Amino acid sequence: MADVIVIGGGSGGIPVVARLVESGAEVVLIEAGPDYGALAEGRWPGEILDAAALATSHDWDYTSGPVTGREPWTFERARIMGGCSSHNGAIAAVGHHLDYDSWGLPGWETETLRPLFDRVLDIMRVRAYEQDEAGPFHSRCLEAAASAGWRIASDLCDLDANHSFGLETVNVFEGTRWNTAFAYLDPVRDRQNLTIADECLVDRIETTRHGVTVHALRRGRAHTFDADRVVLAAGVYGTPSILQRSGIGDPVVLGSLGIAVSIDAPLVGTNLHDHPMVNASRDLGEDLARWMQDAAASGFVPEEQTLGKAVSRHAADGVFDLHLFPVCGSTQTSLTNGRALLEVACMTPRSRGTVKITSVDPGVAPAIDHGYLSDPDGHDIGVLRHGLELAEDLLAQPALRSVLVDEPRRDLSDEALRRDVQHYYHPVGTTPMGSDPSTSVCDRFGRLHGDHRILVADASLMPQIPRANTNIPTIVVGERIAELLVTQLNRSDEEIFGRSPHERSEGGMI
Ligand SMILES: Cc1cc2nc3c(=O)[nH]c(=O)nc-3n(C[C@H](O)[C@H](O)[C@H](O)COP(=O)(O)OP(=O)(O)OC[C@H]3O[C@@H](n4cnc5c(N)ncnc54)[C@H](O)[C@@H]3O)c2cc1C
Repeated sequence: MADVIVIGGGSGGIPVVARLVESGAEVVLIEAGPDYGALAEGRWPGEILDAAALATSHDWDYTSGPVTGREPWTFERARIMGGCSSHNGAIAAVGHHLDYDSWGLPGWETETLRPLFDRVLDIMRVRAYEQDEAGPFHSRCLEAAASAGWRIASDLCDLDANHSFGLETVNVFEGTRWNTAFAYLDPVRDRQNLTIADECLVDRIETTRHGVTVHALRRGRAHTFDADRVVLAAGVYGTPSILQRSGIGDPVVLGSLGIAVSIDAPLVGTNLHDHPMVNASRDLGEDLARWMQDAAASGFVPEEQTLGKAVSRHAADGVFDLHLFPVCGSTQTSLTNGRALLEVACMTPRSRGTVKITSVDPGVAPAIDHGYLSDPDGHDIGVLRHGLELAEDLLAQPALRSVLVDEPRRDLSDEALRRDVQHYYHPVGTTPMGSDPSTSVCDRFGRLHGDHRILVADASLMPQIPRANTNIPTIVVGERIAELLVTQLNRSDEEIFGRSPHERSEGGMI
């Protein structure tokens, strides 16, 4: 029997595994996708390693299903060791200090998290692109931003910085997308106290008097794993789905599928949110298209290299609520479709959605409804509209206008924005932390209200999305939960809490 089972080898899960293994705990890591071993073994697919563009080969293929009046959304999620850190854009961001302070959770203030951010940026080999690494398109974007009056910054990975434009910070090492498997798992993967079960799909968890049993299918065959505790890190769609299949969720959802309720937790799978995104785009002029080809032929030319943080007229706290990031490749990828894009994302979304299982079969995808732009005050759509105005201003600057094909400014109507809205690949929040069980699913230790042997350590835990791409913040969540959990494993409940049973169930910050 293990001490801890970690479900999901992604951005949040792998740091938990690494820290627990280092502490001497017996750990089982269960991952639905394949594990290609240590990077040094040379078995990882080239497409996954290449950081120049998003990888698409190992995906769960989630979609919204049919939507009236527009194309369905695809909700990309990686099914491979490293999770989404293995196929993402490798842009490293941290957000603003107000983001974490606004969670209002003791032990999660920015000041507590700062050392963890520093550590994660170091372990993930994060660095800013140098000026001479900027490709032909992104050099022009820097020029355009300066002429449009943006403050040019040298480090965008700064918890205290506001309005600025600059070269992006990335977790890319010598052209390789540096995922959590390379950063955290490789140093511990050969330890005797770690068991890795890859290609193993978790169905549900069951708690007993002795601990937790995880029921899974490994390459089609039923398997069970036993431990004292389980840490769910199956991602923002996977984690609430496993809980719901385990009888932990909204009794209405569970009852409709004949699942007996073990913990009445109606908020599981709610509070789903992401940064909604739209773009202004242009065709590349002949010169720029040729420069891009030449640059790609002579080196590494990523699609994304620059980013702007802007304060819209809707920002109540005076801090940036927009990301503007140009995207352009030398070839026609699924993202750019051969055009130059100025992507605009609302970083403080108010719209919320849900994840609900539709079957007891773990092979059936949940129903995912993001509710994009559904906030009643029209906040999200207003922020996006302002962002598009700023994007069109940038495109009109001589440095860009002279190398892009002249096209009409884009339609900014509500109808057009609703038709075109995409996401920034950053869903969070489906099992949020909080001190009040009536408004949250987990406590500030990541433990499920109602059963402290079940924890969460992934993007699902964030009560509110930070103003950042979510990979680095999710790794920080993993590090923080691991820190809290290791302390708990090494001390008796009495040593940790040492107070009344009531106080014990509330938990105290360690
Ligand atoms: C295409 C794309 C581009 C992105 N670009 C960026 C970027 O440039 N910068 C950035 O900061 N963020 C980016 N993100 C977001 C970032 O990668 C995610 O927020 C982060 O990786 C989420 O981490 P997680 O631990 O919550 O989930 P994941 O990393 O998705 O990990 C969940 C893991 O659990 C496994 N799993 C799920 N269900 C089960 C089950 N039933 N049984 C067993 N295993 C299971 C999955 O296979 C997966 O490995 C991007 C995301 C995507 C999809």
